[in-house]
Amino acid sequence: MAISAERRDDFPILRRRVHGAPLVYLDSAASAQKPERVLDAVDGFYRQHYANVHRGAHTLSAEATDAYEAARTRVARFINAPDERSVVFVRNATEGINLVAHAWGRRAIGPGDEIVVTVAEHHANLVPWHLLAAERGAVIRGVPLGGDQRVDLDALKGAMSPRTKLVTTFHVSNVLGVLNPIAEIARIAHEAGALLLVDGAQAVPHLPVDVQALGADMYAFSGHKVGAPSGIGALWVREELLATWPPFMGGGEMIRTVALDRSTYADIPMRFEAGTPAIAEAVGLHAALDYLDEVGLQDIWDHDRALARYAIERLRGVDGVTLYGPEGDDRGGIVTFNLDGVHPHDVASALDVRGVAIRAGHHCAQPLMGALGVRSTARASFWIHTTTDEIDLLADALGEVRTFFAGVA
Ligand code: PLP
Repeated sequence: MAISAERRDDFPILRRRVHGAPLVYLDSAASAQKPERVLDAVDGFYRQHYANVHRGAHTLSAEATDAYEAARTRVARFINAPDERSVVFVRNATEGINLVAHAWGRRAIGPGDEIVVTVAEHHANLVPWHLLAAERGAVIRGVPLGGDQRVDLDALKGAMSPRTKLVTTFHVSNVLGVLNPIAEIARIAHEAGALLLVDGAQAVPHLPVDVQALGADMYAFSGHKVGAPSGIGALWVREELLATWPPFMGGGEMIRTVALDRSTYADIPMRFEAGTPAIAEAVGLHAALDYLDEVGLQDIWDHDRALARYAIERLRGVDGVTLYGPEGDDRGGIVTFNLDGVHPHDVASALDVRGVAIRAGHHCAQPLMGALGVRSTARASFWIHTTTDEIDLLADALGEVRTFFAGVA
C-alpha cells in the first residue's frame, strides 16, 4: 500500500478517544473526516476573506468571489470537465440529482417515457425519479444484479427501448463497494438515444474520475464525502445540455433582470445557483480536492481495494459472518456484512463501545436490501487513514460480539 501511515496525522479527529478507546473510524462512506488542511482553509477564509459573493464592489467581496469561482475551476479540473461553466454548486449529490430531475426531467420526460435505474441505487437516485415519474406519467425500469452481484449489463441492454430517455446509476455502490463499468453503460445508454447521469458520491473520494473518458452526460457528487465540509457538492452537466435547461430555483444570483411580473435568467452556471451559496464550504472543497490530488487518487483506490481484500479475508475467518458484494479488482473500500444471530444495530453498538464506528441499517438502499434478501446490514468503509491494524481490531471485536451474543442466546 503506497499510502503512508503518517497520513493519519492529517486528520485531527483521529486523535480523540471514544468510550476510552482510540477512535477507529470505519464510516467514511457515510461521511469522510476532514484533513487539517481543509479545516485551516475554512478557518482562514472566515478570518481573512469572508463576504458575500458576486455582489459587492468591496475588496472582501471580490476576494470571496475569486475564492468561490476558483473552487469551481478546481472541481472542473478534478473531474476533467471541459469547462467550469458546466459545474453547478449544489448542497450534495442528492441536490444535484434533484436538479437534473427538475430542470431537465420536467421538460424532457413525458407520459410513457422510461427512466432506467438499477436495483442497487441509493435512495437519492431513486426518489427524485419516483417524484418525476408520478408528475409526468413516466415509467421506471429497474435493472437487477447478475449472479456475481454486479449490475447485469445484458439486463440493462434488455431494459432499453425507444422510450428510454435516461439511464442513471452509481459509479461505486455504497453497499456492494463495486465499481460500475460506466464507459460501457454510457455506450448502451447512448446507442438507445438516452442520456446517462452518474451518481458519483462514492467514487470521487476514492478513484480518479474523468467525466469525459467515462462518456457521462451528467455527474453528481457530495463534498462531505471527499473531506470537505457538508453543505457543498457539485453537479457537472455537458455544457450544451445545461445551457438549454431552465432554472431549478428562483431568487437572487440566478437572474439577469427582474420586473414585477417576470424575470430573465442568468447564463450557466449561475442560473442554477439561487441565493447566497455555500461560500466557505466551496473553499473547503477546493482544499479537499488539493489534498486528494496530493495523496494521489490512484494510490487511494489501490489502498482502498487492498484494504477491502484484507477485510474480506479477515471477516471470512470470523464465525457467523456473511459478506455481501462481489470480489475482484473492481471492489473498493466498502465491506458490507451480517453477523449471524446479531442485529446489525447491535453489532454497531457493541463496536462503538470499543471505539469502532461502523454503519448499520438499510444504507438508503431498500430495493438492494430486498434483492440481497435482508432488511439491513452492517458496513465498514475505509479511506486514506484506514489501516490493516484497524481491520484486525474490527475482526477481533466481531468475534467477541458473536461469542457474547451466542452465550446470551
Ligand atoms: N449516492 C450514493 C451512492 C451515496 O452513498 C450517497 C450517500 O451516502 C448519496 C448518493 C447521497 O449523498 P448525500 O446525502 O451527500 O446527498
